[in-house]
Amino acid sequence: MFDKNNRHINYLRISITDHCNLRCQYCLPENNNSFSNNTDLLTADDIEKIVRATSLIGIEKVRITGGEPLIRKDFLEILKKINSIEKIKKIAITTNGFNLSNNLNEFSTNGLNRINISLDSLKPSKYSEITRGGDFFQVMKTIEQASLGQFERIRINVVIMKGINDNEILDFVNLTKELDIGVRFIELMPIGEGKQFISMKNSEILDIIKAKYTLEKDSVDKTDGPASYYKILNFKGEIGFISPLSNRFCEHCNRIRVTSSGFLKLCLHYNQGVDLIPYLKSNISTEELAKIIKSAIYNKPKEHQMNCNSQDKTIETKRMNEIGG
Ligand code: SAM
Repeated sequence: MFDKNNRHINYLRISITDHCNLRCQYCLPENNNSFSNNTDLLTADDIEKIVRATSLIGIEKVRITGGEPLIRKDFLEILKKINSIEKIKKIAITTNGFNLSNNLNEFSTNGLNRINISLDSLKPSKYSEITRGGDFFQVMKTIEQASLGQFERIRINVVIMKGINDNEILDFVNLTKELDIGVRFIELMPIGEGKQFISMKNSEILDIIKAKYTLEKDSVDKTDGPASYYKILNFKGEIGFISPLSNRFCEHCNRIRVTSSGFLKLCLHYNQGVDLIPYLKSNISTEELAKIIKSAIYNKPKEHQMNCNSQDKTIETKRMNEIGG
């Protein structure tokens, strides 16, 4: 479907839990005590119904995210349910890679096409420091296994923060030499704990890379919306940039989000949307739910104001683990 600004909306990101097994410094406080009760999370049936409803109005790609989506014990059941929806053509996940290596085959067989793994340092001790306890070697092993072929696409999400990991940019680029993966630099957004760190503009990152390599612009996959991609001659993988701050991409935004508590979000930056829980509790039909979602999407905000110091009450205050990134 198209919203009132004539954007083609075909991509749903659904956060299936706000819980996470890591505490990335820019995402969650060390002693976070604000996770939801498991009983307040969307059930596998709720998730299926929401995705089915959105598929009736044109959603073709679904990304399962969190929190850490793989800590849900019913993850496979959720994946199977989404995979059973005929109009969903691509299923992706954003994960920290935890608990993934043993399940790659099963997830691939049940419809998972694309995997994004978050990795903010290639130095084991730095990775552990940023994530407050993550095991670098486990994640790297998973990335290497996953890149061997059964998935359509494996990408690494990297958030570069000045003074923290900005000395690793070329190391990340070098990963694409031997591995057929995408390394994507995502600008740190001033959301939640992210406000405490200094973000690095993607244009600065690009300059550092260009000083060493010649980059060729890669063709853009339309289902990816805002990212731009480059390749280095003879490198197997690609490099991507998502620049929500320095290069606002709202006019190409193709996505909606559903939070782990069942709230349909129309823009990452604003708290506007629809609480889907009362509808789900009232046993609404999938077609009726689709109508409600459709009329909300039509009014999707035109653009975010993340780089203005706006006092607007509609600005989102939820953390990334609830929204799903
Ligand atoms: N646990 C999963 C993971 O680690 O990928 C999924 C959830 S995590 C919230 C999703 C993505 O959001 C990660 O790639 C993370 O780096 C990113 N993220 C979290 N806070 C951010 C911020 N303030 N700005 C930009 N990206 C952020």
